[in-house]
Amino acid sequence: MEYVETIIVGGGPAGSTCGWHLTRHNRDVLILDKTSFPRLKLCAGWITDKVMADLEFDQTSYPHEILDLTMRTHIAGLPFSFHGLPTHGKNYSIRRTEFDDWLLKRSNTKVVQHNVKSIRRDEELYIIDDQYSCRYLVGAGGTMCPVRREIFPNSRMKSRQLTTLEHEFKYPAREEICHLYFLYRGIQGYSWYVPKGDGYVNIGIGGKSKYFRNSGTKIQDHFQLFLGDLVKQNLLDEETASSLKETGHPYFLFTYEGEVKNGSCFLIGDSAGLASVDMGEGIGPGIESGLLAARDIMGEDEYTKDAITKYSFGGIARAIMKRTVGRYHAVRQN
Ligand SMILES: Cc1cc2nc3c(=O)[nH]c(=O)nc-3n(C[C@H](O)[C@H](O)[C@H](O)COP(=O)(O)OP(=O)(O)OC[C@H]3O[C@@H](n4cnc5c(N)ncnc54)[C@H](O)[C@@H]3O)c2cc1C
Repeated sequence: MEYVETIIVGGGPAGSTCGWHLTRHNRDVLILDKTSFPRLKLCAGWITDKVMADLEFDQTSYPHEILDLTMRTHIAGLPFSFHGLPTHGKNYSIRRTEFDDWLLKRSNTKVVQHNVKSIRRDEELYIIDDQYSCRYLVGAGGTMCPVRREIFPNSRMKSRQLTTLEHEFKYPAREEICHLYFLYRGIQGYSWYVPKGDGYVNIGIGGKSKYFRNSGTKIQDHFQLFLGDLVKQNLLDEETASSLKETGHPYFLFTYEGEVKNGSCFLIGDSAGLASVDMGEGIGPGIESGLLAARDIMGEDEYTKDAITKYSFGGIARAIMKRTVGRYHAVRQN
């Protein structure tokens, strides 16, 4: 059996950031990921200034294309749209297949392709598949993380679950503007059209799972309607719209309920369900939690949920959105 001081299960942004921080402080770390990188990851790929600051890189040091996003925000029920998105800083888009692979390599951490199935405790150690043992265990395996399943079975609330569908494809005629459609056709969530580097565009839709359950509507039907609307707005041609095969993936929004630390075991990123409650932004909170868990392992501050970014919007924007969205729902219910 191989002993490593810290094992991180999952090499997405949360896991690779945790590994990066520990490795550069000369700690003994291993990342286990079931897939080989570069790998496909469903995601609109919207990131912020804060992500870049936390990861200590800028547009010039990133080896792939990173787009400065010009935003257009549409809110159902309002006859006009807004320039910009009232988040804390500037917005960019990346392609996850490139971004995650670059982060993992840059972490300088040893990575082994291994699908983690079983985890058990043996006194002070965690034993993984009877092959690896470690003193610190970090769950960074995304929504289906085995560490969450085995050690933190009650860590997430079903009411915070998001259902999503998206498609990313090369579309050289894509518009350079990023469009966000809030409360699109009544969904508690939003739809997006995100231009990316190298002529790619990402189109998707995400909303609270309980909205689809309670309304008896299917996200697939909403996605088809959304494609039709994009065609009407000349953002997509009909032939492309009819050829798209969208894919979905659930994840969870932030809540204070549920633990992220149990002894020397930690949950970070989507495995803990930390995405911002207003925008479902998960990359930033994943990176923040990866750094916090690493600092805890190094004996610095204790990792709690308090320091995680819970809202993507700034304070005034949150108040305006709350009023607009509240009024919209009241009108719909009458
Ligand atoms: C459609 C969609 C659009 C989104 N758009 C945005 C956006 O624009 N901006 C944003 O900030 N967030 C967005 N998010 C959320 C964001 O993608 C996630 O919050 C983020 O990827 C979380 O990172 P992570 O490292 O926790 O998990 P992941 O990126 O999911 O990485 C988990 C890793 O764990 C590995 N793994 C899983 N199980 C095992 C196992 N048993 N053994 C070993 N390895 C395992 C996986 O292979 C994977 O590499 C979106 C999500 C979806 C679904």
